Amino acid sequence: MDIKNLIDNIAEKHKASADELLTILKNDSEDEYLFHKADQVRRIAYGGEVYIRGLIEFSNYCKNDCLYCGIRRDNRCAQRYRLSEEEIYSCCHTGYELGFRTFVMQSGEDPFYTDDRLCGIIKNIKKKYPDCAVTLSLGERNEESYKKLFDAGADRYLLRHETASKEHYQKLHPPEMSYENRMDCLKILKKIGYQTGAGFMVGSPYQTYENIVRDLLFISDFKPEMVGIGPFISHKDTPFKDFDNGTLRDTLAAVALTRLLLPNGLIPATTALGTISPEGRELGLKAGANVVMPNLSPTDYRKLYSLYDNKICTGDESAQCIKYLAARVSSAGYKIVTDRGDWHG
Ligand code: SAH
Repeated sequence: MDIKNLIDNIAEKHKASADELLTILKNDSEDEYLFHKADQVRRIAYGGEVYIRGLIEFSNYCKNDCLYCGIRRDNRCAQRYRLSEEEIYSCCHTGYELGFRTFVMQSGEDPFYTDDRLCGIIKNIKKKYPDCAVTLSLGERNEESYKKLFDAGADRYLLRHETASKEHYQKLHPPEMSYENRMDCLKILKKIGYQTGAGFMVGSPYQTYENIVRDLLFISDFKPEMVGIGPFISHKDTPFKDFDNGTLRDTLAAVALTRLLLPNGLIPATTALGTISPEGRELGLKAGANVVMPNLSPTDYRKLYSLYDNKICTGDESAQCIKYLAARVSSAGYKIVTDRGDWHG
C-alpha cells in the first residue's frame, strides 16, 4: 500500500499497526500529506481553536536523577529555587489578567512539597479562580497523595511516560527508577479521575523508530486526554551532554501520528519544539497540536528551570507577550481561545 493510503486509513480508523507506523516514521516523502491529514482530524474535534495554559515552574529541586534532565539531583551546577506561595499566587494573578484559565504547576520531585502544602496551594487557587483548571506536573507520587491532590481540586495531571519500552526506559533513568512504577502512576491518575497526560521525548539517546512506534501504540491503547511530545535536547551538565538533539521532522511526525490515533487529544506544541526551531511551535500546530503553554514563572527564575540547553525563556513565548503569541498563532491559521480548554470527549 502506498504511504498516502496508509495515512488515510489511520486518519479514518484512528488505529494503526506497528508496521504501518514504522513505515510512515521511516519515510518522510509524504510528510506534507501526513501533517495536512493531522490538521484535518484536529479541526473535526477542535476547529481552529488553540488552548493556552499558563506554566508555573515553581521549584527546580529534584530528588530524581534522570540522565537527560538538567535539573537532575546530581547536577551540582544547577542553582536551586522555590517560589514562595505568594509568588505562585502572583503568577496566577498575572495569568488570570492575561486571559489564562488553566494553570500548570510544574516542578522537580521536591519533597518540600508535602501533600498538605500542595493541597493548601491548590485550594487557594481554586477558591480564588473557580473558573480555572489546575494541572499538576510533579512527577511520581503514591495513590493516596494523587487522591488528596485531586480532592483538593486539581483537575489534570501531566506525567510523561518518557518511553514505552522498558529497556529504553532503563537507559534513560537511574536504577532506582522503574518503568513499571511510571506506568502504574499513569493508570492510578486516570482511575482517580484526572484528565491525564502522558508523553515522550523524540530523539532521546538510544531511541529507535521502533521505540517511537511503541510510544504511539501505548498512547493509542491508554488513551490519555493529553499528550506532550517534544524533541530531546541535550543539557551540558548531564551524562547525555554529547548526544544529538531530536529532529524537528521526527517530532512533527510523532505529533501528527498521535493526532491521527487520538483525534480528541489535547496535544501541546511544546517549548522544546520552539527551542530547536524558531517556527517549531507553529509547525507543531499545523501538524496536529492544539495547545500552547507559555511561561508564567517570574522572569528571574525562568532560566534556572533549565531542563535542557537554550530553552526559550524570554520574549515571545512568555505569557506576557500573549498578544504577539496570538498573532503568531493566527498567522498559522488558528485562534487562541481563553477558556479552560477541557478535553472534548
Ligand atoms: N518532575 C516532573 C516534571 C518533569 S519536567 C515529572 O517528572 O513529570 C517535564 C518534562 O520535560 C519531562 O517529562 C521530560 O520529558 C522533559 N525533559 C526533561 N529533560 C529534557 C531534555 N533534556 N530535553 C527535552 N525534554 C526534556
